[in-house]
Amino acid sequence: MTFKDLHLNAKILKAVAEQNYTTPTPIQQATIPLVLDGIDVIGCAQTGTGKTAAFALPILDRIFSQTDANKKEKKIKALVVSPTRELAIQIEENFKQYSTYTNLRTTSVYGGMSMEPQIDQLTKGVDVLIATPGRLLDLHKRDILNLDYIQILVLDEADMMLDMGFIDDVKKIARLCPQQKQTLLFSATMPPKIESLANELLTEPEKVSV
Ligand code: AMP
Repeated sequence: MTFKDLHLNAKILKAVAEQNYTTPTPIQQATIPLVLDGIDVIGCAQTGTGKTAAFALPILDRIFSQTDANKKEKKIKALVVSPTRELAIQIEENFKQYSTYTNLRTTSVYGGMSMEPQIDQLTKGVDVLIATPGRLLDLHKRDILNLDYIQILVLDEADMMLDMGFIDDVKKIARLCPQQKQTLLFSATMPPKIESLANELLTEPEKVSV
């Protein structure tokens, strides 16, 4: 299988080719068609399996195909919640690489850093936001973030968010997003608490395990 077989937009395929990825990894082969179809996904995968591209590529594809006709529309359409700043930055870099040939903008917000530059980025308008839970809620409380246009919510490394005590924040974030949305949950392990989180937040999810 090649990335072309996954029916991604040519502009995204061009960026993927520049990363020298030749074959989609198993998590990518399984996840990309589901995300493109709007299906909720529980992905059981460790870091290093290519899971970031497994959600980033189809998310960019979906948003790009909608916004191509209206290039000025800059509302947050996809939100990725990450447990740590380091992971948030890594995910942001991936989204930026894969969207090089599109007009889509990605930024990240996380704690432990001044809010001002993050607020500046947000007011310029972004299509994809990567965020750690605390900073996201903080910015939302200050009315800087509008989550009303979110179509896709990703909870990355859900087990780590559980371990770090972020589960209530994650649930709060999911409730602040529109009810009608696609939700993707990735976790290296699937303890009962993650299963029940998935049951609560996802609708008829497909499970992908690698
Ligand atoms: P991740 O699991 O998302 O942290 O990705 C692990 C590493 O694999 C990253 O450095 C990616 O750039 C790389 N990667 C992702 N997908 C592919 C692929 N299909 N072929 C080769 N490398 C990849």
